[in-house]
Amino acid sequence: MKYELKNGWTTDIDKEIVCKFSEGYKSFLDIAKTEREAVSEIVRLAESCGFKPLSDYTTLKEGDKVYAINKLKGIILAVIGEKEASEGVNIVGAHIDAPRLDLKPNPLYEDGELAYFKTHYYGGIKKYQWTALPLALHGVVIKTNGETVNVKIGDEGDDITFVITDLLPHLAREQMKKPATEIIEGESLNLLIGSIPADEEEKDAVKTNILSILNEKYGICEEDFLSAELEIVPSANAKDVGFDRGLIGAYGHDDRVCAYPALMAILTTDACEKTAVCLLTDKEEVGSMGNTGARSDFLKLILMEIMDKTGEGATELNLLRALDKSYCLSADVSAAFDPNFPAPYEKRNAGKTNYGITVAKYTGAGGKSGSSDASAELMAKIRTLFNNNNILWHVAELGKVDAGGGGTIAQYVANLGVETVDCGVSVLSMHAPYEVVSKLDVYMTYKAFHSFFGENI
Ligand SMILES: [Zn+2]
Repeated sequence: MKYELKNGWTTDIDKEIVCKFSEGYKSFLDIAKTEREAVSEIVRLAESCGFKPLSDYTTLKEGDKVYAINKLKGIILAVIGEKEASEGVNIVGAHIDAPRLDLKPNPLYEDGELAYFKTHYYGGIKKYQWTALPLALHGVVIKTNGETVNVKIGDEGDDITFVITDLLPHLAREQMKKPATEIIEGESLNLLIGSIPADEEEKDAVKTNILSILNEKYGICEEDFLSAELEIVPSANAKDVGFDRGLIGAYGHDDRVCAYPALMAILTTDACEKTAVCLLTDKEEVGSMGNTGARSDFLKLILMEIMDKTGEGATELNLLRALDKSYCLSADVSAAFDPNFPAPYEKRNAGKTNYGITVAKYTGAGGKSGSSDASAELMAKIRTLFNNNNILWHVAELGKVDAGGGGTIAQYVANLGVETVDCGVSVLSMHAPYEVVSKLDVYMTYKAFHSFFGENI
């Protein structure tokens, strides 16, 4: 009669398989710190598992494995099912962007004989967490001739690093009286990038020296920053946390901790009744806007391409039918209950570390605002699916009703008519430069997505 949950490590779970899976995930985290890097690593992994560009096919048949890239920042992978897409597809949708600091269009300046980059933060961060820690610079510079310069500096062992300085405590009496939102302001997030002046220069000699280094190493000039996407991310790589190695600490678990299991789930799906779709989007952290976010028409386009190439007809009616009969696991993180900060959590409905995948019937804030509320019927199907496949899972809300809130891509997929529910890994220190998740939860999330792709729910 009673509903009781179990810590996953106390079940008969195969610890070796769990740890092996997390090794692959850790490498992915280190290679794919930005959305562009994630897309290129996903393509590499997908091709090694027999996936090919959708554009290579003129016709598609059951069992074909395809991918389509959305402007180098998003990607859809699909395994064509037995049934026509207009009978519904099974979608797992996650995002591959993460909170970070972007360089401003005019970033480079000198002050106090030190050189800096101006930044503009991306997504919901606690600004004070980004000072006094080693940072790396990743991204692209596109030159006027169309050439792409790839930049990835600050992650390898003897590589240089960058830092945003903070005020010494001795002189921080006034700073420490400020609210946490103002201790470090957006315009103080200036990245220290150099200190040696160029020879025989009087004004801005340090900046001049940096420009000549950039020109020599990357062939770029100051104006090239105007057509660049350069992102500042923590330089630390993923590591096991704790003497027992049960947790993983890393930058960008949100939402690679769902994107990677979703990817692995589709890469290990061979035959499926319904077409399996892995949707990996950009821009979730800033509202899923733009042509690479979940609000774009990319999913619709790729579904129509599939319907066209399988011969069922890419009509608008078929597309609407496909979306209306489809299911989606909106794969995003939840907040794990943190014993250090119990106040904003509601213990009976909180995400729990080591209790498997977390299902969130709804997200949102201020009375479910901005949320897609999964139906009781869908929740029943998910219960059946996960219970029948020995998936460890539990339900959670983000925190107390009036404590705050957050959103995911669920509402944008649900707006298309798709039956959608949020689920993913619960994270400690979410949106911090170094987040923590449980290895067991990561593996369970993979198992959950894999079972979803394999079933006609
Ligand atoms: Zn997030």
